[in-house]
Amino acid sequence: MTKPISLVRAGEGVDSDVLQRLAGALEGALRVPCRVESGIVEVADLYDPDRRQLRADLLLKKLADGADVGETRRLGVTAQDLYLPVLTHVFGAGQLTGNCAVVSLYRLREEAYGLPHSQPLLEERLLKEALHELGHTAGLRHCSVWQCVMSCSNGVELVDLKAARYCPHCHSTMQRVLQGHSAVGQVHPGQMNS
Ligand SMILES: [Zn+2]
Ligand SMILES: [Zn+2]
Repeated sequence: MTKPISLVRAGEGVDSDVLQRLAGALEGALRVPCRVESGIVEVADLYDPDRRQLRADLLLKKLADGADVGETRRLGVTAQDLYLPVLTHVFGAGQLTGNCAVVSLYRLREEAYGLPHSQPLLEERLLKEALHELGHTAGLRHCSVWQCVMSCSNGVELVDLKAARYCPHCHSTMQRVLQGHSAVGQVHPGQMNS
């Protein structure tokens, strides 16, 4: 049987209904069972008060430390803004050929751009970014097919342009990895994509 993907809240402010709907959408797209964990991963120690952001690489490490052998992947969702030492902000990050990924809701909200709240848009963007970062954990790098969810999007308008699915090539890689050899523990620290 295929091991599930665990969805976990990283810090406060993530709506559990949103996570449940994300789990359902990921199941449909990936054909892998998804479960939402009831607990919350504490992130206060990863918060940079000057930047008012969380460090994405340290959050990935924390998620990896909490990984369970009963799951194939671990996806953290946070309401806080994320950064990497080399980047001012990221929508998310994933361990290349590792098991953990993280996405931030912060810059997926219309309010971040001075626009009125849109729940459908927020959840569509969240699904795309979750598929993208999980793709990195399967070893996928950025795809040159602009409609593919693995295309690089450093602005929210580019997130909106791409589809919430993989191109045929990325899709077949995803399925091969997720349905096959994908044990927890194959983590290569430091190898990461945003
Ligand atoms: Zn692709
Ligand atoms: Zn990426």
